Amino acid sequence: MALQPDNLREHVSLARYSTMRLGGEARYFAEVRYEEELKNAVAWAKEQKLPMIMLGGGSNTVITDAGFAGLVIINRITGLRKGPAGVGEVLVTAGSGEIWDDLVAYTVEQGLSGLETLSLVPGTVGAAPMQNIGAYGMEIDQVLEHLEALDLQTDQVVSLTPVECGFSYRSSWLQTKLKGRYFIMSVTFRLQDFAKTLEMERKIKPPYYTDIADYLAEHPVAAPTPQVIRDAVIAIRKRKLPDVATVATSGSFFGNPILDAAAFEKLVAEHPALNEPGAGYTQKPYWPMPDGRIKVSAGRLIEMSGMRGWKDAETGMAISDKQALVVINEHAESAADLFRFRQKIVDRVYEQWGIILEQEPETIGAE
Ligand code: NAP
Repeated sequence: MALQPDNLREHVSLARYSTMRLGGEARYFAEVRYEEELKNAVAWAKEQKLPMIMLGGGSNTVITDAGFAGLVIINRITGLRKGPAGVGEVLVTAGSGEIWDDLVAYTVEQGLSGLETLSLVPGTVGAAPMQNIGAYGMEIDQVLEHLEALDLQTDQVVSLTPVECGFSYRSSWLQTKLKGRYFIMSVTFRLQDFAKTLEMERKIKPPYYTDIADYLAEHPVAAPTPQVIRDAVIAIRKRKLPDVATVATSGSFFGNPILDAAAFEKLVAEHPALNEPGAGYTQKPYWPMPDGRIKVSAGRLIEMSGMRGWKDAETGMAISDKQALVVINEHAESAADLFRFRQKIVDRVYEQWGIILEQEPETIGAE
């Protein structure tokens, strides 16, 4: 028989565990720091026949007003270690409850390359593989070696390779067909020892995304080391994105729609404006992907629908005036307000462009 988790609490408001700061209660709630605490909490919830979810930093999660009628496990499993992997490569393993940016800072301080463009992405290490986080041309599946997880079906700790995680653009099987099967405990990355890697073999090299190229043009350096790229990304993100510590937001709220070539041609034929960079931009709002499909910027669609900086008095929600993909809770009273605001945005983009935007953060609880 499993013991009741040491720090079990009941009827805990989840609003402070989501960076959107909305949402109802967890019926049961426990924080776990070690593998054994996690295993025990899971065994206890199974005995009680309770559903379970694990939350990390709450930055990619929106919680409904109904909350969660089972056990919410808050991940506090920490630890950072590194070891050799081969010539010019190093393996770094991080506990899944580590803050993602603390991991990036650690790897950059060690002179390692592979995560630096992912500086300041909010959330925990364990949340990162779920949606295969990416920024400025790097996605973590390019450097993820394996991850360790508790398999909730077998109660065994398993090691999953990238292939077994089914990574794709901003997604993985961990949040689709394997959803709810695993609790990630640690993630191991294969990173490059920057000083020992030839320029042509580096994963992060020119051509850089426009924002980074512009930063480097303004701050010229002899060689863009991981630290230089991290500094650039931090400066760019601070300029464009609100800090989740002071502003209630889940960051990017919609995924970029990906269209096949025929759908994209039809869209551009109907809306020739999409073939222009648009005021204040040097690039058109879409990019071809290696598989032939076209990724359209959700933020630019929202902006071109006239909603950048919109403050909606009815719901207390707003769209950032710096980055139209960022939805902010200014003074909403409930998650229902957020969902009403989301619908207004989705409807307006659909009316104007015929594209249905999809929410990026995961919803917990019934809407
Ligand atoms: P941005 O640089 O203004 O770019 C807007 C969109 O255009 C992004 O979706 C980006 O695609 C695409 N894009 C821009 N330059 C591109 C290029 N040279 N080649 C291909 N695609 C290009 O984006 P932002 O909103 O300020 O965000 C900065 C970076 O952080 C982006 O890479 C964004 O995706 C990333 N980000 C990731 C997450 C996440 O992992 N959940 C959340 C927020 C932001 P990509 O998305 O493919 O980069």
